[in-house]
Amino acid sequence: MAGNGRLKSYLSGVFCTMQSLQGSILVVDDNAVIRQILKLALEQNQHHVTLANDGQEAIELMGKHYFDLILLDIMMPKMNGFQVLEHMAKVPELAQIPVIVISADSQIDNAIRCIQLGAEDYLVKPPNQTLLRTRVNASLRKKFLHDQEQAHQAEMERMYEAVKAANQAKTEFIAMAAHELRNPLSQIATTNALLSRVGELNPKQTQLLEKVNFSLERMKALIVDLDDISRLETGNIRLALQPLNLQELIHKIAESLHHDVMAHNHSLILNVPADLPLVCADRERMIQVLTNLMGNALKYTPDGGQIAVTAVYQRAQNDVHVTVRDTGLGIQADEQKQIFSKFFRSGDTEVRARPGTGLGLYITKSLVEMQNGRIWFDSKYGRGTQFHFTLVVANETARKDVALDTAVAC
Ligand code: ADP
Repeated sequence: MAGNGRLKSYLSGVFCTMQSLQGSILVVDDNAVIRQILKLALEQNQHHVTLANDGQEAIELMGKHYFDLILLDIMMPKMNGFQVLEHMAKVPELAQIPVIVISADSQIDNAIRCIQLGAEDYLVKPPNQTLLRTRVNASLRKKFLHDQEQAHQAEMERMYEAVKAANQAKTEFIAMAAHELRNPLSQIATTNALLSRVGELNPKQTQLLEKVNFSLERMKALIVDLDDISRLETGNIRLALQPLNLQELIHKIAESLHHDVMAHNHSLILNVPADLPLVCADRERMIQVLTNLMGNALKYTPDGGQIAVTAVYQRAQNDVHVTVRDTGLGIQADEQKQIFSKFFRSGDTEVRARPGTGLGLYITKSLVEMQNGRIWFDSKYGRGTQFHFTLVVANETARKDVALDTAVAC
């Protein structure tokens, strides 16, 4: 009853903001003459009126129909007005319906008791017509606004639950896809490795096998990314934060990218001082972060470009600031807000011509932040991009322990 009633009330509320206020009103009074007078007065203002002879009948009607407002007498047989108010206060759906008490009793104590029991207003019989109309309108307006707010709230909650469920289903699907793809892929990789050993391959066969291998590598990387996404979303990533030598790591990653750098005639410059303090980070995850940023710099820079990696110790913040700068395609201003979003890839045809999934930067940002760092970028379309991140310096005890070659957390 309440759901439908609320919607009806909401709709009539919308209607009443356009026209005059109209509501569904229950008049409760044991005096037939008063009932009729109130009915006529209310109907003159286009309200829909229902009549009840006493409190008990009123409660029964409230169980069957939805009302926007109750006009309630106090002294009635079977169940008086106070009892009606007490009952309404206990039932959440009824507690929201405003009640204007109209009583022959002008004693202030009774008025106070009614208000304490939840009545909105207290008028003395016979009420002045204009005063009655004004009070009825004020109560209805308040009620309609309240219903409108509740309908909005319910709609928002429904939407939130739907989005949450869709998100959950998507996360589960990603985890399942990553898991299910892993086995067939490793079988293809094994078969491929065997194929290259069955005998002498002609150049065409070798070329085809290389193509398969290249695609396999891409698929493996995609599965690793999907697995990371589902772990990030379910909070299932464990980091081993230890004092880490960034200088050594950056040089190693640069070596692993050497082939790509040469193939595209790029130059890769490293400005990483040897006395850089150890940072507090997870080695494997930092390889992932740096490989993604340096790999993107190479990928999104046309042949013959320059990529520079710089690391600086910032004494004031006690952190290390790493910059990966390229002279590549750059990122269009209107796309910059989305760059760390999951699955985002630029619409630029030059970007689309290069392989990618749009997952790398989302994962990179999450990993940097999980290691207590910050990440940001600046870019000029057509001129190049600089990605920056920071990592906190490992504490002194941890750094000393590393010097003694004991693995420690920092
Ligand atoms: P992917 O490279 O697989 O598409 P990323 O999440 O690593 O995914 O990057 C998302 C998008 O950000 C890229 O598709 C590209 O549009 C843009 N981007 C990232 N790095 C650079 C860069 N160095 N220069 C220009 N655009 C970049």
